[in-house]
Amino acid sequence: MQPNLFEITEDSMTDPIINDCINPTCPFSGEPVEAGSLMQYRGHTVGFCNPDCRDKFAANPDGYKDAKALFDERIDDLET
Ligand SMILES: [Zn+2]
Repeated sequence: MQPNLFEITEDSMTDPIINDCINPTCPFSGEPVEAGSLMQYRGHTVGFCNPDCRDKFAANPDGYKDAKALFDERIDDLET
């Protein structure tokens, strides 16, 4: 028996990837989104310019109405 060296695993549900990110720029700073600063929001991948921005939004999405509105608008566009 030989191990299958070329087995391809479709494991895209692990970490969010920047290609799936729905916003090109950080809602707080307007700087480009960074690959290490992504999170899931309403089932979509959203991004920030650095992990601090992500963590503050993740901790309290309702506290950042402008950022939330930007994501909600894009997600509503995608889902309609
Ligand atoms: Zn930012």
